[in-house]
Amino acid sequence: MADKLYMIVPCYNEEEVLPETAKRLREKYASLIGAGLISPDSRVVFVNDGSRDRTWDIIRELHASDEMFSGVDLAHNSGHQNAVLAGLMTVRDICDVSITMDADLQDDINAIDEMLAKYYEGNQVVYGVRSTRKTDSFFKRFTARSFYRFMKAMGADIVYDHADFRLMSARVLQELAGFREVNLFLRGLVPLIGFKSCKVYYERHERFAGKSKYPLGKMLHFAVNGITSFSTRPLKLITAIGFIMSAISAAAIIWAFVVKILGHSELGWSSTMCSIWLIGGIQILALGIIGEYIGKIYAEVKQRPRYIVAEFINNGGKENAEKDTQSRELR
Ligand code: UDP
Ligand code: MG
Repeated sequence: MADKLYMIVPCYNEEEVLPETAKRLREKYASLIGAGLISPDSRVVFVNDGSRDRTWDIIRELHASDEMFSGVDLAHNSGHQNAVLAGLMTVRDICDVSITMDADLQDDINAIDEMLAKYYEGNQVVYGVRSTRKTDSFFKRFTARSFYRFMKAMGADIVYDHADFRLMSARVLQELAGFREVNLFLRGLVPLIGFKSCKVYYERHERFAGKSKYPLGKMLHFAVNGITSFSTRPLKLITAIGFIMSAISAAAIIWAFVVKILGHSELGWSSTMCSIWLIGGIQILALGIIGEYIGKIYAEVKQRPRYIVAEFINNGGKENAEKDTQSRELR
C-alpha cells in the first residue's frame, strides 16, 4: 500500500492563484495515485494565514467539491513560516509523508514525483533546490545570493537555494514538534533535525498571479531572523572588535604620551573627531546587535503560541482544531 501524502500549502491573500493551484494539484494527485506512488486518501491542505480576501471561501468551496482538498484556517496572520508549521503540526499524526509548497506555483509541481521516489529510497527529508534563478529579478537574485553567503559566513547551516519546498516524513514531523522556538526559521531547523536527506533540483517559475507577499522589508526581517536564530557569531564578532579597538587605543595612548613628553602636543581636532564618530558608531552597532538578541530572548521567554488554528476541515467533516500546546505534551 502506498503512503499517505499530505501537502501543506500556506496561503495569504491568494484568491488569484488558488483555483489554478488546486487544478494542477488535482491533476498531479490523480497521476500519482494512478501510478501507485501515494494512497487514494492523500490530501492537499491549504493553510489560510489570516487572509483578507476570499482565500478561505475558496478553500471551503474546494473542500466541498472534492474531499482531496482540506483546509486549516488560522485565527490571524502568523507569517509564512508559522503557517507552514501550523499545517504540518495539524497533520503530523494522520499522514505518512508531507510536502510543503507555496501557493503561487513558483515551485515545480512535477518535482513531486522525484521527491517521492527519493522518499521511497529511504530519505526522510528531501529538499527542493532551485536549479536556476532566471525568473527572478536581478535585485532579488542578488539579495538572495548575498543572504545565503552571509548566513554561511555567520555559521548557520542552510541548504543553498532551497526555499520551503520540502518533503518530510511523519517521523521527521514528530521531531520537529519538539522544537519550541517562537522565532521560527524552518530552513535552519530542518537540517538540524538530521536523518537521511537528499536534494531534488527544479526550475523555479514566475509567480502565477498576484503580488509577492514578501516585500523587501519582510525579506530583510526574515534574513536577520535567520541569522540571529541560528548563530551567535555576530556577538563573538562584537567581542573581537572590542579587543581590536582596545589594542588600538592602548597604542594611541602610548603615542599620545610619547608626543607629550617630546613636547609637540598640539594634537589636531580632526583626529579626535574621527575617533569619537568611529567609536560611537561601533558602539551603537554593537548595542543594536545585542538588542536584537535580547528582543529574541524576550519573544522566546513569553512562549506565546506560534499560531492559533481556528478550524480544520478534512474528509468532509469538521475535526477539532489542534492546539499548538499538543506538541508540548508530546515532549
Ligand atoms: N504567505 C503566508 N503568510 C504570509 C506571507 C506569505 O502564508 O504572511 C504565503 C504565500 O501565500 C505564499 C508563500 O507564503 O504561498 C510565499 O509567499 P510569496 O510567494 O509571496 O513570497 P516570495 O515567493 O515572493 O518570496
Ligand atoms: Mg512566491
